[in-house]
Amino acid sequence: MSFPPEMRTAVEAVQLASRLCMATQDILVRDDRAAKSDDSPVTVADFAAQALVSLWLERSHPDIQLVAEETADALRAPEGASLSRRVADLVNETLRAAIEDGFIEPDDASFGAKGTSIGQPLTESFVADAIDCGAGSPSGAGRFWILDPIDGTKGFIAGRQYAVALGLMVDGVVEGGVLGCPNMPADVVPEDATCIPPERPGVIFAARAGAGCVAFPADARAPFGDDASPASVAKLCRANAGATPATSRYMESWGDSVVANGDKTKALSLAMGTSRTAVRVDSMAKYGALARGDADLYLRFPPDAYREKVWDHAAGVAIVQAAGGVITDGRGNALDFTKGRFLDQKGGIVASANPSLHAAALAALADLSNDA
Ligand code: AMP
Ligand code: MG
Repeated sequence: MSFPPEMRTAVEAVQLASRLCMATQDILVRDDRAAKSDDSPVTVADFAAQALVSLWLERSHPDIQLVAEETADALRAPEGASLSRRVADLVNETLRAAIEDGFIEPDDASFGAKGTSIGQPLTESFVADAIDCGAGSPSGAGRFWILDPIDGTKGFIAGRQYAVALGLMVDGVVEGGVLGCPNMPADVVPEDATCIPPERPGVIFAARAGAGCVAFPADARAPFGDDASPASVAKLCRANAGATPATSRYMESWGDSVVANGDKTKALSLAMGTSRTAVRVDSMAKYGALARGDADLYLRFPPDAYREKVWDHAAGVAIVQAAGGVITDGRGNALDFTKGRFLDQKGGIVASANPSLHAAALAALADLSNDA
């Protein structure tokens, strides 16, 4: 198994963003009103996480385009002055803390063409420009990083699961993925668990097509040695190869989610004959949970008017597939990330732990549609 050098950069970028998220979550826990204001710490963290990942990737891979969820319009607007300042402050504070505790080296290396040194505070406009580097639109030719800086805001605010998700697509094929899950327990949850409880320091999932999927503690150095192979701190992830329709475990959202459809998921689970209780998990952390065997099925049935976005799935696709799982739309078509920032699908999105479970889920879904 070997991971190319850009995977180390991607892991470091996701780890920096995860550190920023954890520091913000500590503030939210201390002040439970903080999540509700207009430019709340959550909003600040979302922009700052995107800036940080953008800067870190651009530093060693300026040739790869970034496609990311946020734009800096709100920071550049006249009423965005305070937000802009707080975003830049959070980026600078995260870098300062990372240098101080030795996570990154205060070397002479610089960010971007302007040559700003890593040890120097970055200006607000430099940070806003880094955010806007994510305005790219993916196509079938070239290399694209695809980023959701904080997926699962509800879970983030509530202190449950959330994820920093970074995928790498090369000529239309999602080849790599890194998922930072700062509240994911180190070990697979027990058989009877009904949720994945929060546990620090969390887990990083990293996957590369043909090289597999690994998971390691979120505060560990990227465990890719000079020979570019994951070292012992990383555990190999495999989705449940033996999960059958009757033994499979579903994941579901917490509370209302625009992309979940509890009734349809329940009908499908009845049709497939599973006797297991579903596991509740927020965010794209579901893809990591599927990849290491916490659960076996992740179903998304958004309403017709909703268009899926590429950053909500790119990293997850790489991780699930490298762990032996399968992901398609509800009709069995491969997900197509080459048509811009939206990811059009038919019949929802289905991710399963193994090919035979996936075939059974698609067949049951087709039966339900015929009956409807
Ligand atoms: P959940 O999987 O239940 O944690 O729901 C979060 C997922 O829904 C993420 O993939 C989000 O990107 C997506 N999502 C789409 N629209 C919204 C929205 N308006 N609020 C929260 N999450 C959303
Ligand atoms: Mg999202």
